[in-house]
Amino acid sequence: MNSSRLQLYRAEFSCPQCGAPAVLDETEYAINCPFCRTGVLLVPERFFRNYFPAAVDGDLIYVPYWRLRGAYFRIHDEDGEVKRLTKFIDTTILGVSLPHLPYSLGIRTQNLTLKPVCDDLPGTFLSPDIALEEVRERVARVQVSGRQFSKSVEDLHTSSREFLEQQESQNVSSYEYYSNFNASLDAEAELIDLISTAAVDLFRKKKESRRKLELEKTKIEIKTTAEKRVDYQEFIGEIISLLHYPVTVRDGVLRDGVLDEQLSRTKGMDTILSEKQAVSVRKTWKSLPLTCPGCGWTLEGASDSILFTCSNCDTRWLFHDKKLRRCRVLHLEPEEKHGVYLPYWKLKIRCPGFEETVYENQIKRNFVWRGRGKDAPQLETEIWTPALRLLPDEFLIAATKINAHAGNLELKKGMPASTALFPVTLPVSEAVESLTLILYEMTGNKSRLAPDLPDLEITASEARVVYVPFQKQAVDLVQPRAHFAIRHAAIRDRTGVGDVMN
Ligand SMILES: [Zn+2]
Ligand SMILES: [Zn+2]
Repeated sequence: MNSSRLQLYRAEFSCPQCGAPAVLDETEYAINCPFCRTGVLLVPERFFRNYFPAAVDGDLIYVPYWRLRGAYFRIHDEDGEVKRLTKFIDTTILGVSLPHLPYSLGIRTQNLTLKPVCDDLPGTFLSPDIALEEVRERVARVQVSGRQFSKSVEDLHTSSREFLEQQESQNVSSYEYYSNFNASLDAEAELIDLISTAAVDLFRKKKESRRKLELEKTKIEIKTTAEKRVDYQEFIGEIISLLHYPVTVRDGVLRDGVLDEQLSRTKGMDTILSEKQAVSVRKTWKSLPLTCPGCGWTLEGASDSILFTCSNCDTRWLFHDKKLRRCRVLHLEPEEKHGVYLPYWKLKIRCPGFEETVYENQIKRNFVWRGRGKDAPQLETEIWTPALRLLPDEFLIAATKINAHAGNLELKKGMPASTALFPVTLPVSEAVESLTLILYEMTGNKSRLAPDLPDLEITASEARVVYVPFQKQAVDLVQPRAHFAIRHAAIRDRTGVGDVMN
């Protein structure tokens, strides 16, 4: 059993062709309609906005909750020592400052099926007045410091509104991120140079946003920093959405619109709510037909996949930057016949300041940080990153072990002969985000590199999908040539490896 499945929210969409209901987990974007055989990909503007259907009558107000789910990494110094912290974050946070509402949605809401916000729904949908970037930052800090959660969310509500508005424009979700850069490639082109502009753009944005947050922190905590502190953090493969929960007011008292319970005895809630800003109720996603741009045939792929296959013209198509783009695929031959393949991204990267070294009889490789001076070496190499969502520690193992041995892995063109392929679910933009962490993990002189992590200038210029075979051994998936194993349970997508194996 894949336990992660229990923690996922579901939403009921409908087939744009025949209208049949299609329930998708929050990790899924594709509808493969069993009734009319239509395949479509749902493409949100920034992220999905869903709501819980109300169970009561009356004037309903839908309160926003931010939904965050993904692997979190932080490298920071604590008592003079550089530490690495990893967490799997799976949470919902109230997105508007309102008293008497729970800070986080309870477990029981996960059994409810949500619906996508679409045009002209009745009721008032409140706009979040806490920016996603601030929520993300705060969640990260709470995870690190272990401070009481509710207290810290309360702090969040009292921080400067102006600052939050500034931040609003800086939110970068993986899907919004797709839309934020202009990769000028047509569908026929290969996936080359697709990510270089994206990477630069993302790093610039992140740096700006980090600097602002740093400023804000200094104001609040009156913290002075004499020497350069180590503080680098990253979310990889995060799923972001906005969940609207219904409430209603009776005699000035706030009530739960699903459970029909009183939320508190305090009166005057109608006045407080009326001061909040509403958002326009409209559909915020588009659907993209899953047909081969080359020949028009229906594309095949799992509902949580972003890579699709045309079995008619034998081509692979990646959903990237709101389009389907041709993508080359490679694979490694398995040691044994029965196994399962996990996808990786193989990226060509450039980063000044690093030297690549090979040790242990020219078999394993790692890196040395030389700093960013005038005579800094220019690293040009290939880095592999997992192309699926994993628990954070396993993500780093799966990345570093394969990279250490990458020089000795012989690649073949095309798809492997097996059908036990795990879908590509991690966008290439997220893979680019993980490069700093992977380089750090593979660097010998970590303490020298650590303070410079936020300023690394990594550019990635070419992306390929590589399917890597693993053998099932009890609870592990073993890669014999790169000498490592990860747990089945570490895979944090909808599809379990079991599904692929069957
Ligand atoms: Zn249909
Ligand atoms: Zn085709």
